[in-house]
This record gives sequence, C-alpha cells and structure tokens, in this order.
Amino acid sequence: MKQEKIQVIRQALVKKMEELWSSADRTISKMKTADGNYADPFDQAAIESNKYVELACRDRERELILDIKETIMRIDRGLFGICDHCGRVIHEKRLLIEPMSRLCMACQEQREIDKKQKKRRLAVREMSYNYV
Ligand SMILES: [Zn+2]
Repeated sequence: MKQEKIQVIRQALVKKMEELWSSADRTISKMKTADGNYADPFDQAAIESNKYVELACRDRERELILDIKETIMRIDRGLFGICDHCGRVIHEKRLLIEPMSRLCMACQEQREIDKKQKKRRLAVREMSYNYV
C-alpha cells in the first residue's frame, strides 16, 4: 500500500481514538454525578443496570482503543499490512475495510476454522461430562 494511503488511515485511526477517549470521559463523569443522587430504590436500580450496560460497552471500547493503538504502532514501525502469521502482504482492499486486521484473508479463514473446531471439541467434551 502507498505511504500516503497508510497515512490517511493513520489519521482516521487517531481521530477515532480521540472520539472514543472523549466519550469515555463523558461516561465516567456522568456516572459520578448519577451516584447516590436518587432516593427512590427503583431509580437506583435503573441507574445500577444502566451503569452495568455502560461499563460493558466501555470494555468493548477499551479493546477497540487498544486495537487502534496497536495498529498505529504497526504503521509507525512499518509493519502495517503484513500478516502476523505468514508474513505475506495483506490485500489492500481488506485493509481499507478493516484497517485493524493483522492477518491475511487465508490466515484469518484458517483461524476461524480452528476456532470452530476447538469450540466443537469443547462442546462434545461438555456433553459427555453431562451424561456421565
Ligand atoms: Zn497470512
């Protein structure tokens, strides 16, 4: 991939990361002000469950931030667009759609197959435990 294109992706990633950071800041301050301000137990329960949902979202966002950070690091080290597994160049189209991909199409597919097989093996094992 051309350096200019990579830099465009890098800028987009930095912007996305800043957006995620600022929304994380907002949630944290919102949670702080919501704390203990409601005497009604039903309101309190609603706040608690909202908090739970927000925190679960935060977890996913945190992972996304880490992914973005790592991708930016890969760009800066000249490793962007190279498959982690086989070292081949990842197709440009794939990178434009999913700039955070670390595997080429073939390795990704293989990994999905491995994952499915592992899951199936675990499921079979669980089933046999249940019937003992
Ligand atoms: Zn590969």
